[in-house]
Amino acid sequence: MNVLLVYAHPEPTSLNGSIRDFAVGRLRQAGHHVQVSDLYAMNWKACLDADDSAAPREPRFNATAASRHAYDHGLQRADIAAEQEKLRWADALILQFPLWWFSMPAIMKGWVDRVYAAGFAYDVGEHSDRHWGDRYGEGTMAGKRAMLIVTVGGWESHYGPRGVNGPIDDLLFPIQHGVLYYPGFDVLPPYVVYRTGRVDAARFADIRETLGRRLDTLATAAPIPFRPQNRGDYEVPALTLRPDIAPGAVGFAAHIDRGDGGQPACGTAEGGSTNSR
Ligand code: FAD
Repeated sequence: MNVLLVYAHPEPTSLNGSIRDFAVGRLRQAGHHVQVSDLYAMNWKACLDADDSAAPREPRFNATAASRHAYDHGLQRADIAAEQEKLRWADALILQFPLWWFSMPAIMKGWVDRVYAAGFAYDVGEHSDRHWGDRYGEGTMAGKRAMLIVTVGGWESHYGPRGVNGPIDDLLFPIQHGVLYYPGFDVLPPYVVYRTGRVDAARFADIRETLGRRLDTLATAAPIPFRPQNRGDYEVPALTLRPDIAPGAVGFAAHIDRGDGGQPACGTAEGGSTNSR
């Protein structure tokens, strides 16, 4: 497979740096082709703005319209077009980052904001009262796989079903369902390293073991069974779940189809994360 690893950490000798080096080595050993977008090393421009297009400036900047125009007319900045080309090349995308304020670092969010152009990652397909775009299971990335590798300072219990920070699957939902499933990726369960301050040689050996197994099954592991938007589960144009689908289920969990009424347990093996504690 062709694998694109998008990586956000400012320090090459960090835990994240070691994990990235391990992951790239393991994937290459297995015969995969790997490209890394090391966002800090690339000095990636994080802020989406009017400079992202070579088109003449409009009196009022409209982010979606400017993105669509630049994408359709070959006027995008070269850094954006190059990342889109890597995504077209990739069969699998890995986003690797330390959890910063319960989300991805700003530089990676800026990669998503800018690379996910209108017409490329959103605003794809028919938009009408009958069909609200090719998204959530359909779209430009359909047929490709994606996975998160996330390091976390807190304990696993802090991110458990009743943990003070909220369940990790809920915190990652906007990334896994919003950023990855939306443009069509099949999203594999995340690989999460907890309590990073306690990582030593023994813990790192455990990370090599458990992450290695996850990378070995990148092409075959079952994705999180998010519900496709256009399969009939949702009423259009409201795009709410049909009353007979997972009745009573609300919130993020309702959008995962486990065939059990829609209330998954957090952190279970099926669709839950693989963790290093
Ligand atoms: P490092 O600090 O580089 O390393 C961690 C440990 O691993 C160190 O002890 C180091 O010696 C050891 N190590 C590194 N490489 C190896 C190796 N090869 N072998 C063995 N040991 C090694 N945490 C939360 O839980 N929730 C949050 O919302 C959150 N927000 C944050 C916001 C900010 C702005 C910051 C700076 C931190 C935040 N944190 C949060 C903590 C953050 O998630 C962790 O600091 C981060 O995940 C650790 O990853 P690192 O690569 O920076 O680790």
